[in-house]
Order: sequence, then structure tokens, then C-alpha cells
Amino acid sequence: MPATAQRLSSFTESIIRDMTRVANHHGAINLSQGFPDDDPPPEVIAAAQKAMLEGPHQYAITWGAPNLRQALAEKQSRLMGRPIDADTDIVITCGSTEAMICAMMCTCDPGDKVIIFSPFYENYGADSILCGAEPIYVPLEPPEYSFDLKKLQEAFARKPKAIILCNPSNPSGKVFTLDELQIIAELACDNDCYVITDEVYEHIVYPPHSHHYMASLPGMFERTLSCSSLSKTYSMTGWRLGYIIAPAKITSGARQVHDFLTVGAAAPLQEAAVTALRLPASYYQQLTRSYTKRRDLFLGYLDEAGLSYTKPQGAYYVMVDFSGCGIEDDYAFCRWMAQHIGVAAVPGSSFFHEKVNHLVRFHFSKSEEILHECGKRLQKLPALL
Ligand code: GLN
Repeated sequence: MPATAQRLSSFTESIIRDMTRVANHHGAINLSQGFPDDDPPPEVIAAAQKAMLEGPHQYAITWGAPNLRQALAEKQSRLMGRPIDADTDIVITCGSTEAMICAMMCTCDPGDKVIIFSPFYENYGADSILCGAEPIYVPLEPPEYSFDLKKLQEAFARKPKAIILCNPSNPSGKVFTLDELQIIAELACDNDCYVITDEVYEHIVYPPHSHHYMASLPGMFERTLSCSSLSKTYSMTGWRLGYIIAPAKITSGARQVHDFLTVGAAAPLQEAAVTALRLPASYYQQLTRSYTKRRDLFLGYLDEAGLSYTKPQGAYYVMVDFSGCGIEDDYAFCRWMAQHIGVAAVPGSSFFHEKVNHLVRFHFSKSEEILHECGKRLQKLPALL
């Protein structure tokens, strides 16, 4: 038999999903793979039931059902403070996972360079390899996760085709300030570079921080592929609904790639998602309140356990420093913790390009009850080590 493709040797299976298997094996509470415990809002579930009974059941238009694009265009025009055209500026994808690889494939040729801030969500490395692009990593240094301007300038001097910006950031919980976004925007314009954003946590931002869209900055809509999804905002990660927003000259390429990758996202779920996108402002306020409460609850338990961490400004992850706990390796620590404490996390090193081995990532998108239970279990940490 011939060998399988060489590109497979350049990346591994997802460590996040591997840790879910470790959690299941030990019956540990899974704070590794970050997905919400909550169900989607009841009116959205009712809309899905209706769509299942009444259809549509056949393919939607490949780049998205017109009514879903219309609802999304209205919502994002409001939030981004500029007109988004439902007919030309949107591609509905199977989650932002597809949106991101689709965005990369329609901007980068093999051999092109792509800036990725490190730590980074694991898909970006694999996405670059799959489209033949070479990553240039720029560190976001813990515990503040800020970037060094000189290093970013040096990365841009290598003439990248695109920069990937996860904001709010997974795994660090960083929310880029308007000043930081302006610096990145200026460098992207000066070096004629695309910006590919991953903004799936756009509605999970803790006051006083606030989310600014890269595409809203002057001159940036033209070169930005804004990727996001409905997964986190409406607690529907299994529905696999995401999107790219960009000007027509970019979406026409993204539609081509998307069409041949997947044809389209599930038609009845696209129909039901219209109800989600039309939820009132109070829904998003409640979402922020609920996550703020859970974040503060979980951080309180980390404080009690004597663990230090970087306070998340957005998203629902926290990077925790376990150095001094007696186990040197983060993988070993995560396996030990799943088995002996009953809580699973993700080894921090899986997110970093640099050698970093003192961090683990927990997510806190769980019910308060489960977070209390995790909190109690984590108190056993100092005694057991
Ligand atoms: N985005 C989530 C995380 O970072 C889930 C990852 C996945 O399994 N797709 O944990």
C-alpha cells in the first residue's frame, strides 16, 4: 500500500478531544473540551422542532439560506456599525472550524506565511499545514498575554499573507484592546495582509472589557475575513453553524471553497437559527451575567486552592499555573488530576509554540452546581501532592 499523505505527520489529533477521552475514562468532570452545559434557548429549540416537521430538509443554498443570511446581516450590521450585505458579504459554514479553514484556503497558497499569536487554538496550526502555509508565531507572553510590538513588526516584515486573530482569545481569555487592534490593523494595511478573525466568543466578554470587531476599524472591512459561529452564543456547538463575513470579492472565493468542502450547513438548523439571531438584546445581557457569575465562582475556588491564574477578560477558559504542585509535566499533571482529583483540564503546552510547561487550561462553561463540585475537588490538590 502507498504511504498516507506526508502532511499528516506534521500535526496530531486534537489534544482537547483526547483529554475528553481521558476525562471519560476516569469518570472525571470534563473541564477540558469547552462546550456549554446549557441548552439553546427554548424558542430556538421550538423553531428546530417546527423545521424538522415542516422542512426544509434538502440542501439550502450552498452559502447559506437567504433568511438566515438576512437575520445575520441585520444583527452584524448593528454590532459592527457598518452595512453587511446579506446577498454578498456572508458565507454560512459548518461551524467556525470550517469558516477558519475555508478563510485560510481562499487567502493562502502553499508557501505563503501566516502570523499566529501563541498560545493559539489548536486548529490554526493544523489549518495552516492543511493549506500548505507556513506559520510565523508571535508570542502572547503569560501571565499578561500581551505582545511585543517589535516581535510583531518582525513577523510582518516576513511578508505574511494573513494574520489570525482569535478575539476574545482561546485559551488565554485575552480581549484585545482597541489600541492593540489598531496596531495590528495598521501593520496589516502597511504590509498588505489579510486579517482572519475567530470571534466565536464575541458575546462572552466580562465588564469592564468590551469587544471590538477588527472589521469595524477604518479601512479594515476590505481585508478582514470575520469568522464566527452560533455555537457559543446560543449554546449549540453540535448544530455546527458558523460563518464568514467579508466583502464580495473575498466571499466569492470562500463560497467556492465551502461549496466543495461541505456543500452547506444543515438546512433545518439554519431555518431554526433565524430565531436565535433575532433574540432581543436582553438575551446577550443575561448571557454575560451568567458567564460572569460562573467565572467568578470558579476563580474563587482557584484562589482557595492557592492556584494562580490569569483572570479571563473574555471567553470561558482560564489558564492556571500549576508549578509548585510537584508534577513537572503538564500532560502528566492533567492525567493525574483527571484520575485522582476527578477534574480534567487541557495541558497548556498544546496551545503554545514556545516551550511552556507550567500551565493548564480549564473551561468553566458548566452549571454552577458542577462548578461547586469541581471547586470542592480542587481543594484536595494541595493535600494530595
Ligand atoms: N473550542 C472548544 C475548546 O477549545 C472545543 C474544541 C473542539 O473540540 N472543537 O475546547
